[in-house]
Amino acid sequence: MEALKQAIRDIPDFPKEGILFKDITPALEDRVVFRKMIDALRARYKDQKIDAVAGIEARGFVMASALAYVLGAGLVLIRKPGKLPYQTHRKTYALEYGTDAMEIHVDSLKTGQNVLLVDDVLATGGTIAAAVDLIQSNFKANIVEVAFMVELDFLKGREKLKGTNVLIHSMVNF
Ligand code: AMP
Repeated sequence: MEALKQAIRDIPDFPKEGILFKDITPALEDRVVFRKMIDALRARYKDQKIDAVAGIEARGFVMASALAYVLGAGLVLIRKPGKLPYQTHRKTYALEYGTDAMEIHVDSLKTGQNVLLVDDVLATGGTIAAAVDLIQSNFKANIVEVAFMVELDFLKGREKLKGTNVLIHSMVNF
């Protein structure tokens, strides 16, 4: 996945000062890198009987969609509040300043389904911890793994998932 690592662009001070933003758009725009990334994830999960790939708004949708297609799985959307039209479960979580929340339709997952959870970047881990909790608190589905394009090791995001015994896979680490 060296090609993926090379294709990720650093944007200093975005969206605010002090944040080094990992811009994945060049990796998506590169036809070779994008295909390699989806092929590698397909190879990793093809024998795991994945029923649903759940993507986190918004950049998580990109990978989740292509991956659901190649795995022959359904695609589940985890979205910011107020975006999903049907009845939802909601999980509120703490940000550096204030709170945020995400939602999932109440009928998105079925008992016993194997779910793969996907987002672009694992940073502090707050978002993924909330998404895992949203699924585990409301459904009797099995989270096979959570997959990221990028993990920022120094932010120790995976520590937020300790105690959930959910497995984490990152394609590249910085
Ligand atoms: P987290 O801090 O792990 O809750 O990250 C929240 C979300 O913000 C992730 O889904 C990422 O898409 C995004 N994010 C956070 N930090 C960065 C960063 N340094 N570069 C790119 N995306 C980021």
